[in-house]
Amino acid sequence: MRKTKLDSRGKIAMEFRAWFQCINADCQSRYELTDIVYRCRKCNELLEVQHDMRRLKKRPTAEWRDLFDGRYRRNEWPYGSSVWAKRELVCPNVSDENIVSTYEGGTNLFWAERLGNQIGLNDLWVKQCGMAHTGSFKDLGMTVLVSMVKQMISSGKKIKAVACASTGDTSAALAAYCAVAGIPAVVFLPKDKVSLTQLIQPITHGMLTLSLDTDFDGCMKLVQEVCQKNNIYLANSMNSLRIEGQKTISFEIVQQFNWEVPDFVIVPGGNLGNVSAVGKGFQMFHDLGLIDKLPRLVCAQAEQADPLYRSYKKGFKTFEPLRAKTTLASAIQIGDPVSYKKAIRTIQTFDGIVEEATESELANMVGRANKTGLLCCPHTGVALAVLEKLVGRGDIKKRDRVVVISTANGLKFTDFLSKYHADQINGIQSDYAFAPVDLAAKYDDVRKAILERIEM
Ligand SMILES: *Cc1c(COP(=O)(O)O)cnc(C)c1O
Ligand SMILES: [Zn+2]
Repeated sequence: MRKTKLDSRGKIAMEFRAWFQCINADCQSRYELTDIVYRCRKCNELLEVQHDMRRLKKRPTAEWRDLFDGRYRRNEWPYGSSVWAKRELVCPNVSDENIVSTYEGGTNLFWAERLGNQIGLNDLWVKQCGMAHTGSFKDLGMTVLVSMVKQMISSGKKIKAVACASTGDTSAALAAYCAVAGIPAVVFLPKDKVSLTQLIQPITHGMLTLSLDTDFDGCMKLVQEVCQKNNIYLANSMNSLRIEGQKTISFEIVQQFNWEVPDFVIVPGGNLGNVSAVGKGFQMFHDLGLIDKLPRLVCAQAEQADPLYRSYKKGFKTFEPLRAKTTLASAIQIGDPVSYKKAIRTIQTFDGIVEEATESELANMVGRANKTGLLCCPHTGVALAVLEKLVGRGDIKKRDRVVVISTANGLKFTDFLSKYHADQINGIQSDYAFAPVDLAAKYDDVRKAILERIEM
């Protein structure tokens, strides 16, 4: 992409305003987006980014639609990025020269026709958020966060590095965006709980990679302490700048359906930032009059790490953190999710459902989906397995338009796939195990091998 000076549209963008606001309705304290603050200083509650909706509403809806459609996947910096193409609604406070972008978003919607038919749906789509620079949806939030960091550093704020705890994908995204910007990063990873690809990503970007003898929740506690006591900026999704980027998933889905809203959106949930973000995107488009209905949202959890599901079952009367057990869906192996309050609010607003999937259900769903041409990560397997349950019990109907959020690229989890296809995952029978055939390089042997499997 070509970098241009701040153009007229960039200047318009700077006219809009956004700030951090405490989610506690009795507090609602406000902070500048350039303040180094992750929780409310008065009541310690989570913050969220609020936009000056009055100003945004002044522009007619047809103009917004034309503006966004005109920018979609074009090359004029920074609008080729589907996050910055909506900058007025995402983060209007960053100037062009501080934007750190890898052309994120604009990921394809895969029409899962065969899988949909097998499950009993006519209109199933998979939003391929893993078709991204670092292979997961985390890029969408990280471009906003690292751009704000660059802006803060350029205005004299003392930030020496950016840090995060991660189940593998956040650290990969943070490392890449910091490498693009030339800012040091420190990543906290639970030892032996991320895939080889995820581990090698921050390493190859030359960032300090700490492999700690604990789980994600342990890394999370430690990184918060390190950031609080040093000039290091926290990049976890408790930092609501990331939510602003991730909510563009919903903007894109609406745009890709020609400004129509699907009936259901299913999101795998761990720390529960993304399900909140997807809700926030639809809500904002609705508040601006760009869409006239809201979808129902489903949060899909792994049975091994399901605190939101348990809370949902009790009508959200309580929320109890738990110790997450090992799951193949390692990026959602979280027992003490930071964003649970936002997630509960989202599920309630969107007439939502929380459902879970076992290890066997998620693994075999990946096997089955991949046989129809998808290439799913285990988390997408969780979402698809949950979908099948909801269709089975009639919550989702045959004609409903359903979008499943695929959170990462299946190629980041080849260790899982190769074990699955070798039928070597403990406690799971691989129903779709396919093995390569070892043969001599001879015509007759090859023909025999083909005839055993394919009618000719
Ligand atoms: C981060 C992540 C999730 C979970 O998102 P949360 O915001 O933590 O709920 C799901 N899948 C993948 C692949 C991820 O990297
Ligand atoms: Zn507060």
